[in-house]
Amino acid sequence: MTPQSVLKEYFGYDRFRDGQEALIAQILAGGDVLGIMPTGAGKSICYQVPAMLMTGITIVVSPLISLMQDQVAALRDAGIPAACLHSNLEQNAYFDTLDAVRNGEIRLLYAAPERLLTDAFLSLTDSVAVAMVAVDEAHCLSQWGQDFRPGYLEIASFLEQLPRRPVVAAFTATATQAVRDDIRRLLKLREPLELVTGFDRKNLRWIVERPTKKYEALLRILKRNKNKSGIVYCISRRVTEEICSKLCADGFRAVRYHAGLSAEERTANQEAFLRDEVQIITATNAFGMGIDKSNVSFVVHYNMPKSMEAYYQEAGRAGRDGMPAECTLLYSPQDIRTNMFLIENSEQENDRLTPAERAAVKQKDIERLQAMIRYCSLTDCLRHFILRYFGEQAPTHCGNCGSCLAETEIVDATVPAQKILSCVYRVAQRGRHCGSRMLCDILQGRDTKQLREAGYQTLSTYGLLGDLSRVHLEHMVSILISRGYLLTDANQYATLSLTAKANAVLRGQEQVQMALPLRDLKQTKREQQLANMPDYGVDEELFQKLRRVREKLAAREFVPAYIVFSDATLRDMCSKRPRNEEEMLAISGVGKYKMDKYGEAFLMALAEYEGEAGSPRGQFPPGAGGAD
Ligand code: ADP
Ligand code: ZN
Repeated sequence: MTPQSVLKEYFGYDRFRDGQEALIAQILAGGDVLGIMPTGAGKSICYQVPAMLMTGITIVVSPLISLMQDQVAALRDAGIPAACLHSNLEQNAYFDTLDAVRNGEIRLLYAAPERLLTDAFLSLTDSVAVAMVAVDEAHCLSQWGQDFRPGYLEIASFLEQLPRRPVVAAFTATATQAVRDDIRRLLKLREPLELVTGFDRKNLRWIVERPTKKYEALLRILKRNKNKSGIVYCISRRVTEEICSKLCADGFRAVRYHAGLSAEERTANQEAFLRDEVQIITATNAFGMGIDKSNVSFVVHYNMPKSMEAYYQEAGRAGRDGMPAECTLLYSPQDIRTNMFLIENSEQENDRLTPAERAAVKQKDIERLQAMIRYCSLTDCLRHFILRYFGEQAPTHCGNCGSCLAETEIVDATVPAQKILSCVYRVAQRGRHCGSRMLCDILQGRDTKQLREAGYQTLSTYGLLGDLSRVHLEHMVSILISRGYLLTDANQYATLSLTAKANAVLRGQEQVQMALPLRDLKQTKREQQLANMPDYGVDEELFQKLRRVREKLAAREFVPAYIVFSDATLRDMCSKRPRNEEEMLAISGVGKYKMDKYGEAFLMALAEYEGEAGSPRGQFPPGAGGAD
């Protein structure tokens, strides 16, 4: 077999994605690899396909039991013999698995890093040939990353104890150079092929909102994502619970997830979400690693996360099936305060760090937060910012983010910009700093208690921009921040300071053009724009029918629905309407094994639907209507 035919036969896919082929070729040629690919890009295929072609077994090191179980279930469902060894296995199952490995019945064996150096495991790997060790979530090796896991450091000595050194393949979604260097060094990779694939996820729509009432903003998001599956990330356990209760009271099917809940409740809630029994899960960042649910259509961050790395990873859980999905961050300056508090009080899990190293880690945390704050104030293309942050070139206009979708007009804003900047200057002259809300209050000449107490009504800039709409003023301040004229200090009040760049504007040496939202743009119009996702033109009724078939099969097999087939696969069936086995095998995601297992049920449902509708099957271009 060739990599291509394994991909088709077992996974049902026609083509490799960006980077997969090169990594697989290197592995098959006996070389190490370091694959850096964003969440959802398809890292697993890179070791699962060669594992089927190599002599000997592949050991996959993975950080979480749920992740292992999920992958193993998916592989078995595709007809690939896989198993995992972890602490939750009953003794019998454990020994059965060891036997199966010894008898050569297993191609991929998943294990947690801590298991590798145990006697049982070492004696096992003495008696079978290990072709490859694949290290998933390899950034767990790095102390600079956010998920450092000491057990990962044992992988290197495990490799040294093997009779023959296998190919080592490491994968991560974290792209920073420090983390990459750590992985290479700590795993002792040998001249690895290091491959970074495009970080862009074109089907994800990036949006930042700065609402005064967050919960109402959340309801608007839920309205435009009616009946779709989504995650709402919250900054704390308290917020997670609060939002979950509110949503339930408002009639949504939501569950919660955080580390403070009992293991039973966490598992039950996660399962309910994975199986589409509930629509929404509210969660802290404890939720997600290894969650491979492909039909998550939206991820909302109810609070700003601590870094772009964390944000991209969490938000990236949307749209894994390639369907259009939305990632919205609801920002308020209060979030800076909470994050600073978390940084100040974060416990370094490992005491190996010296005080100097600790200080360095903290400084890095603050820098990461700064970048996150800039993202939240951005009025230019959000995708551009993200891709640049991860070291990629990108056009300045993507057409599919909150900024690019906004209807704006370009205005010369030099004069108001000068007034804004000089107001910051005047406040600083008094030895003080204020945040953007207070700044706008001053410029608009508002009369609030706080403002009076600070004595700001006597500033020469007080009321200077009273005739400007508040929305525009706030927007201008955001633009000045995102262009680097103003800096949001990473203190708990998110105060603003001037940068050196501001001087030229203040002295009138530089003009400032700004794209501002059209004055008459109503909230409803904006909602329509955001709700308007690209249409894949599938017959919704048929899609729902196929989903019900999938539901039944999943229950029969005791697996989550997305393991049977992804939404993307069902949609492909809706548009191609296969009538026989051969046509079914041409559907993306339908391999031979799954055809035998599930194909008939779907073919019957499709035939039944054609009969009911009495219409020819749709060979129409997307959006042309089809059988409806
Ligand atoms: P990652 O581990 O990088 O987050 P996964 O390995 O879970 O991503 O893959 C994400 C999704 O993409 C899965 O549903 C997987 O089956 C699918 N996928 C991977 N490779 C391909 C491919 N070549 N063609 C189509 N779908 C693919
Ligand atoms: Zn954009």
